[in-house]
Amino acid sequence: MRSPFAYLSALLSPVPDRTNPLDRDARLSHMALHDQETGLGNRLSLERAAAGANPVYVVLFGIDRFEVLRNAIGYDSMAGLLTTVGRRLSGLNGRAPVARVGAGILGLILQAPDDEEAVRTAARLCEAAQTPVILNGAPVDIALTAGLARTGLINRNVASPVDRASIAIDQARAVHKRAMGFDTVRYGDPAGNLSLISELMAALDNGEFSLNYQPKYDFRADGVGAVEALARWTHPRRGCVSPDLFVAMAEETGHIRPLTEWVIHQAIRDQAELRRAGHDLTVSVNVSGRLLSDEGFADFALAAVEASGARLCFEITETAVVGNPEVALRLLDRFAEAGISVSLDDYGSGLSSLTYLKQIRADELKIDKSFILGLDDSARDALLVKSTIDLAHGLGMKVTAEGVETPTALALLRGMGCDMAQGYLIGRPVSFEALLERLTGPARTASTVAA
Ligand code: C2E
Ligand code: CA
Ligand code: CA
Repeated sequence: MRSPFAYLSALLSPVPDRTNPLDRDARLSHMALHDQETGLGNRLSLERAAAGANPVYVVLFGIDRFEVLRNAIGYDSMAGLLTTVGRRLSGLNGRAPVARVGAGILGLILQAPDDEEAVRTAARLCEAAQTPVILNGAPVDIALTAGLARTGLINRNVASPVDRASIAIDQARAVHKRAMGFDTVRYGDPAGNLSLISELMAALDNGEFSLNYQPKYDFRADGVGAVEALARWTHPRRGCVSPDLFVAMAEETGHIRPLTEWVIHQAIRDQAELRRAGHDLTVSVNVSGRLLSDEGFADFALAAVEASGARLCFEITETAVVGNPEVALRLLDRFAEAGISVSLDDYGSGLSSLTYLKQIRADELKIDKSFILGLDDSARDALLVKSTIDLAHGLGMKVTAEGVETPTALALLRGMGCDMAQGYLIGRPVSFEALLERLTGPARTASTVAA
């Protein structure tokens, strides 16, 4: 059996004599398979090594914050740094040849019995290779993130294992992991998503969007105290598109403002109809972080609320504020003046620092469902939830728990002094018509809900 390294090893043999015309072919093939700056193999050499009959792992190592580092130390030093790290990786992996696959990306071939072992080995290689590199006598700190892909697999979206490993680096960075294998599910179907993006704007005009409402149960009033508006996109061919997908897409492509403005318009109309039916409920709308630095959006929201006298609550997440605190805080103040209340959504799911709570004068804190779903079995979650409720109350905020799915969780939250509960136990998100029907139907109190 031919080792997958044999080919690369042969190619990495001493450089041919440039003056000898007989060596010309060898020289050309050497150039074709090597990176000029570092002398390491190039992408093609790695692809060839990966193309053997036996499945192996392509492992790519991305230098974290590569561009910042290159700007700081210069292109020449960067080449030296890459060469050094390449040699280290090679030495740590049985002298396997190392290739430079992208500006700040090195790669090698790894043999491992299974994915888990491959990821473990790659993480170990990162740890071992990322000691400081000495350049002109000064140590330069580096950090590596590895992405892996197994060869011999058929992937409709990304055919090349080198491309898959490269995407895996981004996936690993996104979840703060040292090394990770390519995750097909997480990657989704970018070609399909691309066409969705172009359809999003027309979809708003074509009436493909609608709002679902999820009730918030008020412990003290023992009834529905508010509702959260959740956007729904029913695509004519694909059916329901997940809000997590289209919201992220709209954020990335600058469409989040028209989408949110549509939601606010619709929510105000629905609230007026609820009022006419005798139900005076606050409507919560999710406002994406990007909009908290958009003065134009704030102007729109204030005008809409002023014209209608609507009672809205904006649910925001902390990334919104951490990114651009000055502008965000100014806009939040404007909202408060207009009588729009503010809720800190998904509290606990991110970093949720005390600075965040200190900065923002919010009316409500929404404890993330990840804590509430674990409430029944985890004393730790219960302790965290209880302390968070007390902290929020101390700061003058109401607390909503989201993700309440069991009567036990509901009872525990009541005991902890939580103000509102939201979740499948109380009610799933439903159409406006279904909400109206439910509100006008027989009252559902905590005991009937729990039953
Ligand atoms: P979110 O604001 O945290 O909304 C709550 C999500 O949790 C909803 O998912 C809801 O259906 C789900 N949920 C409610 N109760 C339970 C429960 O008891 N158990 C579990 N496991 N899940 C529960 P949905 O509707 O898929 O929305 C997902 C996310 O999409 C929302 O998370 C929100 O961040 C975003 N989103 C939805 N509509 C809008 C919108 O109009 N604008 C913006 N910016 N984001 C929106
Ligand atoms: Ca929300
Ligand atoms: Ca939430």
